[in-house]
Amino acid sequence: MLSTMFEKVALQTTELPVVTKSYEDKFLSPPCESIGERPCANGDRCLARFIAQVRYGTDTDKAFVCKEFLLPSQYDDFKAGRGLPSRRAKCVMCSRYFQVHATRFSRRSPCVY
Ligand SMILES: [Zn+2]
Repeated sequence: MLSTMFEKVALQTTELPVVTKSYEDKFLSPPCESIGERPCANGDRCLARFIAQVRYGTDTDKAFVCKEFLLPSQYDDFKAGRGLPSRRAKCVMCSRYFQVHATRFSRRSPCVY
């Protein structure tokens, strides 16, 4: 019975892209929409905007929505004029926040670091 429930299947995997901190740092700024960059998918709820408002106050002019984060292959395509992914992504800060939240949720403990 178990052998029919768990057949061995070859899974296709892809290489995980290498993303360095210096690469991520390129995405810690507002989008340059005149060249086609897009804002974070979280819009006005972007973490970059929230952090500036906590630091400088809700009326600060220093708050901004960060540009969307692109993996290196996506960024290469964008620079080569092959466009952006069809679905807008979160910025690097919102992505990292979500990943930490998802990791904590998957471990079912609010105190795991
Ligand atoms: Zn964001």
